[in-house]
Amino acid sequence: MARREPGPFGVMELGSVADVPRRWLARRHLGSVVGMRLTMVGCSGSMPGPHSAASCYLLEADGFRLVVDLGNGAVGALQRYTALNRVNAVALSHLHADHCLDMCPLWVARTYAPEGALPRIPVYGPAGTAERIARANDDPDVTGAFDFVTLTPGQHRIGPFAVTTGHVAHPVETFAFRFEHGGHALTYSGDTGESPALVELARSADVLLCEAGFPDLPDLPPNLHLCGRQAGEHAARAGAGRLILTHLAPDCDPEESLAGAAGAFGGPVSLAAPGQVLDLG
Ligand SMILES: [Zn+2]
Repeated sequence: MARREPGPFGVMELGSVADVPRRWLARRHLGSVVGMRLTMVGCSGSMPGPHSAASCYLLEADGFRLVVDLGNGAVGALQRYTALNRVNAVALSHLHADHCLDMCPLWVARTYAPEGALPRIPVYGPAGTAERIARANDDPDVTGAFDFVTLTPGQHRIGPFAVTTGHVAHPVETFAFRFEHGGHALTYSGDTGESPALVELARSADVLLCEAGFPDLPDLPPNLHLCGRQAGEHAARAGAGRLILTHLAPDCDPEESLAGAAGAFGGPVSLAAPGQVLDLG
């Protein structure tokens, strides 16, 4: 049986923004998160879906706002959870469109802000990120808004987060991330096929936020995406505390992915949903 309890962390399933009280939204814009908080902004795989933007997550701690991936449609949804002029940094797992294209509207928002051009923010990504965003934006001047930092596998510091990155198995250079803060760890898979590096990055993590972009079919192509069962197997090998499936393709059955993951992993398993918030201490 698939288990969908919230586990040790508080989980708010918000559904649509219409369900969110106005006062709560205002508090999210003005308030300052101290512990590590993950907000699912977009979790649709490979493209936006009818109910979700493509990949995007907001990770906050100590008042710092890190956007992890910024896929198609995500800048719209992101504004439900933070003003765009309060984003402190962006980390991109890879340069496929569904993980990075909304850097273009973020550039517009920061370059033409009503209060004037905003200070540059760091954008961590694979080699070639600046050129990729400039091409998508049809404007080479993206460095006016962003300070691009090329990621390499290893340990980094982004704001209050200790970040460990590693290459995972995807057709372009792709990073998975382990974010640590206040004694808690969250691992995000990026896009990947089966990957020993992902298991290492998720070792004993409180939460593994793992892509499950494929249905569980025979002869899945390697080095592309995981199905729910494989995501569960990675969580089990890593000894993760909890597994959340994301990158859920609009044409896949999420309940099948959930059941596959729960069959392979003994801990709590759930599906990411836009607006879901996890407080990790
Ligand atoms: Zn991809």
